[in-house]
Amino acid sequence: MEVVDGAFTAVEIGAPAAGASILPGVVLPGFADVHGHAFHRALRGRTHDDGGTFWTWREQMYAVAERLDPDTYLALARATYAELALAGVTTVGEFHYLHHGPGGVPYDDPNTMSTVLRQAAQDAGVRLTLIDACYLRGGFGTPLSGPQLRFADRGVDAWAARVATLKADDHCRIAAAAHSVRAVPAEALPTIGGFDGPVHVHLSEQPAENDECVAATGRTPTQLLDDYGFLGPRATVVHATHVDPDAVRTLGGRRAWVCACPSTERDLADGIGPMRTLADAGARLALGTDQHVGADLLGEARALEDDERLGSRERGRFTSAELLGALTAHEALGWADTGAIAVGQRADLVAVPLDQPGTAGVDPGQVMFAPTNVDTVVRDGHVVVSGGRHVIGDVGRLLVDAIGAL
Ligand SMILES: [Zn+2]
Repeated sequence: MEVVDGAFTAVEIGAPAAGASILPGVVLPGFADVHGHAFHRALRGRTHDDGGTFWTWREQMYAVAERLDPDTYLALARATYAELALAGVTTVGEFHYLHHGPGGVPYDDPNTMSTVLRQAAQDAGVRLTLIDACYLRGGFGTPLSGPQLRFADRGVDAWAARVATLKADDHCRIAAAAHSVRAVPAEALPTIGGFDGPVHVHLSEQPAENDECVAATGRTPTQLLDDYGFLGPRATVVHATHVDPDAVRTLGGRRAWVCACPSTERDLADGIGPMRTLADAGARLALGTDQHVGADLLGEARALEDDERLGSRERGRFTSAELLGALTAHEALGWADTGAIAVGQRADLVAVPLDQPGTAGVDPGQVMFAPTNVDTVVRDGHVVVSGGRHVIGDVGRLLVDAIGAL
């Protein structure tokens, strides 16, 4: 293959050009981590004492959110994105809601935290879609409290005015989000859904969200989003773990993206979403690390299939091609020119060696069903990871220092 200005200009099979670099093992397109919150990385391996629930985990997450400032967030996000790059991620979708300073007081530049995240992505060698999330209340009929104040703008118009000042560039695109139907009143949904770009929302991760939504509005979260025009081919719903057959039909019929986050859903004991059924109905699948309980994108793809097997007691619920499609859903983040090794596409590559203990003997077409180590990652034609090492240096040390500072 040949790369000019960060894009493939020629792709030939079995014909290495003179002077070409040969990558080891199986070479795949770069991966998209369609949904995550960089600061949650500080919680990995620290929330497992005394069991707890999604809601008690959320209290621990809020405690980290309370402590972050622009400097500590830059260090943490840089290291977190670098860890994702080591796993083959070339596009990160950052679902960003930690907008303001302590007590909800805006920084002098109200997009300071966005600037920090953009810098972190640049340093870590990944492209970014900054998914700016609107967050206006604590729940149905519940005001904001404590750390949630840092997430909120004065109203949806203030959120929209702030987001309108964010500018895309070659490394960063802007997307919009409603945090969830809990955190955003229905009247605000048309403004957010009308954003000129991708629109994202957390959907039905917990049965309690469904119950509270039905009690407050008489509709399920999916019905509510659809009634307010939020769902369509630009929309990504995250989790969709507890969706009924009516919601499955709606999400499929609207050709929405559904972003599964299997390691997070396992970690938080959320449940198993009907991903095969959603795909059959017409929804397009994507994958996210969400709370960064792990940073193994190939493992997330494997988990998508494994969870289906446990739920259905059938093997082969997704083909390798379908899993690769979910791994490369850059389009859900607004990068339709990324995700395939083809002329005109951005030159992103991930090389997975087949001569390592985890992959020895593996059929190249089934590499995602084995424990893998990524050797090389190329983004826009630039080498970001080589020999399993990030060009930025020791990512473990960066993470230890960034988390230690919190
Ligand atoms: Zn999330």
